[in-house]
Amino acid sequence: MADLILATNDDGGPEIFASLQGEGPSAGTPVAFIRLSRCNLACTWCDTAYTWHFEGDERPHRDGVTYDRKANQVAVSPAKAAAKIAALGQKRLVITGGEPLMQCGPIADMLAILPDIEVEIETNGTTRASSHVDIRVDQYNVSPKLSHSGNAAELALIEERLEHYAADPRAFFKFVIASPDDIEEVRELDRRYRFKPGHVFLMPEGTTSAALRDKQEWLSRHCVENGYRMSDRLHIHLYGDERGT
Ligand code: SF4
Repeated sequence: MADLILATNDDGGPEIFASLQGEGPSAGTPVAFIRLSRCNLACTWCDTAYTWHFEGDERPHRDGVTYDRKANQVAVSPAKAAAKIAALGQKRLVITGGEPLMQCGPIADMLAILPDIEVEIETNGTTRASSHVDIRVDQYNVSPKLSHSGNAAELALIEERLEHYAADPRAFFKFVIASPDDIEEVRELDRRYRFKPGHVFLMPEGTTSAALRDKQEWLSRHCVENGYRMSDRLHIHLYGDERGT
């Protein structure tokens, strides 16, 4: 049984914690979170760059910071992770990252020990869950990355994967929006993949309450005009841009 590679909290322990889901359709719901390390993309504004932007990684990030891999990753057995999650006493588990679906084997082993917990997965939409994981998933929060993320479209927007998620009634799409220009890209993807009504969220990019509120002023108008839902980032307002929240 392979270990999960998790992100670390400020104290160096695994990033497993209880909080309110801050984004998307379940915002405001009390949940357990587990944050997996590693990602196959490199978004310039990623707010969890400590999961992938390790020393020696030359890909650009706006903060210009790279992280010591040893201090920011911890290997935890599926059984130990499951015990920590169970101890939090929550009905629902959010598996996030990084890109968590890079670790489907140990995720499936962990979920086998948590048979009754509801499962929500945050993914960038470039990869699919294995059948052993997929059968346990109640909700996918799919966040395809637009051109302002700095990722090449051929890496970030994979046709077969987007078609797959667009057809899955469990999948909701959450687009990070930095400027009004980004919304036309969402509309183009919507025309192409025909996302289900009510399943598209536009979420402002930002890691401070002030930045989020500024963008929500114009983003709310675009949501009304296009029939999209707006996502906040509740955890930023409550706790700031901190690990373990
Ligand atoms: S896909 Fe998510 S975790 Fe990966 S670099 Fe982009 S924002 Fe960060």
